[in-house]
Amino acid sequence: MKNQMEVRNYMENLVANQLEDVMEKNNCSCFCERCKADITAIALNNLPTKYVATEKGVCYAKLSSYENQCFIDIVAAITNAIKIVEKHPRHTDND
Ligand SMILES: [Zn+2]
Repeated sequence: MKNQMEVRNYMENLVANQLEDVMEKNNCSCFCERCKADITAIALNNLPTKYVATEKGVCYAKLSSYENQCFIDIVAAITNAIKIVEKHPRHTDND
C-alpha cells in the first residue's frame, strides 16, 4: 500500500504550537476562534514559508531544530499580529 503524501507549510504548525502561549503572555482579551485565525493568518504572512512533504499523519518531530532556530521570529510575528487584531477586532464584544 502506498503512503499518502501531502505538502504542508510547516510554519503553520510552529505558529499553532506557540499561539495560545503568546496570547496568554500578552493578556489577550479574546481567545475566540475568529481572533485566533486572524492572528495566525497575519503572523504567517510575516514569516517565511517552510514547505515540507510528509506522509499523511506523520509528526514533524524531525524539524524541531528548525523550530528552535526561528522561535524568536515566530513569537515576534505572533505578538505583532496580536497587537493588530486587538486594535481592530473583526467582531464586537457581543458577537
Ligand atoms: Zn475574538
